[in-house]
Amino acid sequence: MRNVVIIGSGCAGNTAAIYTARANLKPLVVSGHETGGQLSMTTMVENFPGFPDAIDGPILVENMKLQAQQFGAVFLPGSVIDADLSQRPFRLNIEGEWTETHTVIVATGASARWLGLESERKLIGHGVSSCATCDGFFYRGKKIIVIGGGDSAMEEANFLSRFGSEVTLIHRREEFRASKIMLDRARHNPKIKFLTNTIVEEIYGVSEQQVKGVRLRNSKTGLVWDQDVDGFFLAIGHIPNTKVFKGQIETDADGYIVSKGGARTNIAGVFHAGDVQDRVYRQAITASGAGCMAAMEVEKFLEEEGH
Ligand code: NAP
Repeated sequence: MRNVVIIGSGCAGNTAAIYTARANLKPLVVSGHETGGQLSMTTMVENFPGFPDAIDGPILVENMKLQAQQFGAVFLPGSVIDADLSQRPFRLNIEGEWTETHTVIVATGASARWLGLESERKLIGHGVSSCATCDGFFYRGKKIIVIGGGDSAMEEANFLSRFGSEVTLIHRREEFRASKIMLDRARHNPKIKFLTNTIVEEIYGVSEQQVKGVRLRNSKTGLVWDQDVDGFFLAIGHIPNTKVFKGQIETDADGYIVSKGGARTNIAGVFHAGDVQDRVYRQAITASGAGCMAAMEVEKFLEEEGH
């Protein structure tokens, strides 16, 4: 029987682990398929307070894990594949084994969104990627496309411009969601070309098992054309990882957990932390803050329940 199981090992989960471990609750952290969360796929983090010279994302999140382990948190690789939250103690199936726990912190984050083209699915790992940091290296001197109009797309385009011979940033609208500073940085990068009001209709290369090109369409003029490309990077947002709790934890139409105040969900004893609930701020620092809040609520809950 566990006091608390934390599901997810990004900033939210790891911060919750530090706090609950320091409260002597011996948390179990289920790391998930994307260990370290979004930060493990990013490069320099310049806006996490305390690091005036910036810090590498993977190092920052690994340091959080080490910090939690120092106070007794136990990290388990793998994912929760089933959950029974209908009564306490809660039951979680972790890779085939059921574990009982008094409380749960859901810090499962959100995973990359894809366009949904059949060719895209078939070419994942063969030129189609959602992680510039992981795969950018393979496109040295090659033609790269980045899809999206948010901060991630700007960040990835800038990062990929270090490798590619050219980077084309394709966005479906005229206006950008990205912050001005990130947009300006990309716009001033001579290697990045912008194509707005542009839709990807098809990715070529399925029979060769390697991305060769794309068919694009201008949504305003209707003009359709082909463009050669080697690396196709998606940066079009994320989908919250709440599938396993469907029908139990209340979510909105997009699958984000609905907060019942603080870190509370609709189930007493089950708390949320980070991007799995937050569709607005989605920053490392806000996820860490949310992890802290969830941990403090777990402490209070366990005390009130007499555990
Ligand atoms: P986002 O802000 O949600 O932007 C997603 C972009 O993808 C939007 O421009 C959207 O277009 C486009 N898109 C969505 N679905 C699409 C589809 N099916 N086809 C084509 N385009 C599609 O996501 P994000 O850029 O990943 O950023 C998420 C959060 O993290 C934001 O709060 C951001 O500020 C933050 N972030 C911060 C940093 C940083 O500060 N270093 C870096 C990365 C991310 P529409 O605009 O038309 O909807």
